[in-house]
Amino acid sequence: MTTEQKTFISFGDLLALEFRCKAYRSSVTRPLKDWRQAPAVCGNCRAQWFTDGSEEHHLLEASVNMVKRMATADEGAKYVLRVEIKIGEQVKVHGSYSAT
Ligand SMILES: [Zn+2]
Repeated sequence: MTTEQKTFISFGDLLALEFRCKAYRSSVTRPLKDWRQAPAVCGNCRAQWFTDGSEEHHLLEASVNMVKRMATADEGAKYVLRVEIKIGEQVKVHGSYSAT
């Protein structure tokens, strides 16, 4: 028997975004509720994550704003838009995917 586990979250379930430095694995978490600005520099090693005003910075802020709007849009909508997330590795078994 093959079982398949899927995990879905709605935008309303999202509470915070974490920025994780790839160099030292330090992280900073920003709650969506009180979002002000994405950190452009790692607070630990001072690595520059992006340049203020760059296309990447604008895309990041636009993405955060979209997530915040979708979180509140769920409240009045007749549907819930959910995102499937991967938990653990998925292994292809006989044409389907299952979590391991
Ligand atoms: Zn760092």
